Amino acid sequence: MLNEAGEPLCFVLSAPSGAGKTTLAHAVLQRLPQITRTISWTTRDPRPGEKDGIDYIFVTQDAFDENETLGGFVESAVVHGNNYGTPENEIRRIHDDGHDALMVIDVQGAEAVRTQLIDAVTIFVLPPSQKVLEKRLNGRDGADPTNEKSICRRLGVAVAEIDHFVRYDYLVINDDFNQAVRELEAILVAERCKQRHRLHQAGKILESFQ
Ligand code: ADP
Ligand code: 5GP
Repeated sequence: MLNEAGEPLCFVLSAPSGAGKTTLAHAVLQRLPQITRTISWTTRDPRPGEKDGIDYIFVTQDAFDENETLGGFVESAVVHGNNYGTPENEIRRIHDDGHDALMVIDVQGAEAVRTQLIDAVTIFVLPPSQKVLEKRLNGRDGADPTNEKSICRRLGVAVAEIDHFVRYDYLVINDDFNQAVRELEAILVAERCKQRHRLHQAGKILESFQ
C-alpha cells in the first residue's frame, strides 16, 4: 500500500462522542485488512468491555505527562477532561508493516495532524440529529447513573465540535449504519485508487508493455 513517495496513507476520522465513529471504524477495518487503527493513550478509565492495548492504552496522568514531555505523541489533546494522544511510534509501526493508518481522534487532534501530515485524508462523521446523538450516548453509557454528568458534558462539547466538519475532506452521516459503513469504505478505497497513489503499480504494468 505505498503511494508514489513510498509512504503509506494516514486517515483521520472524527465525530462528536456517541456519533458512532468507533463502531463504524471497527466494521470498516474488518473489510479492509490493509488499514490499521492507531491505538491511542488515554488517562480516562476503561468502559465496560474495553480492553487495555486494544481499545486504548490506559495510563496514569504521570505516565501520559512524561511521554508528552519526551515528545512521544504525534498529537495530543484534552477531551472531555481526559488526556488522549497518538503515540508517534504507533504510526511508524503501522507504516513499517506497509499498512495505511487510521486515526480516530477529536477535532483538536485532527487540526494538529493537518499541520504535520499534509497528505492526511480527513473524514467527519455526523449523527442524524442531536436527539439521536443523545439517545446513542444514553444507550452506550446511560446504564451507569454516575455517567449522567459525562453524557451532558459530551453533548455540550458536540455542539462546538460539529462546526468543524467544514475543515474535513469528507462527510459521512451515520443514520443507517450499513449505508454509513459503505460510504466510509468507499472513501478509504477511493483514496487508495487515486492515480498519484498508483504510479508505482502503473509503472510496473507499463513496463510489461515494452
Ligand atoms: P463514538 O466512538 O463516536 O463515541 P460509538 O461507536 O461508541 O461512538 O457509538 C455510540 C453508540 O451508538 C454505540 O452504542 C453504537 O452501537 C451506537 N451506534 C453507532 N452507529 C449507529 C447507528 N447508525 N444506528 C444506531 N446506533 C448506532
Ligand atoms: P472516548 O472517550 O469516547 O473514547 O473518546 C473521546 C474523544 O477523544 C473522541 O472524540 C475520540 O475520537 C477522541 N480521541 C481518542 N483518541 C484520541 C487521540 O489519540 N487524540 C485525540 N486528539 N483525540 C482522541
